[in-house]
Amino acid sequence: MTPVSTFFRNLQPKCCAACGEVIMEQAEAYMNECFTCQEKEYVIANTK
Ligand SMILES: [Zn+2]
Repeated sequence: MTPVSTFFRNLQPKCCAACGEVIMEQAEAYMNECFTCQEKEYVIANTK
């Protein structure tokens, strides 16, 4: 099951799902969020 949105995401520059910043790192192709937001979530997850 592949949503149409996933198809278009592969054609356009990826944007962070949290803050909307364009994600440049191709190595993080499967990430939906930029490093800044990922770090934020990581910190939050470890301080809960
Ligand atoms: Zn972000």
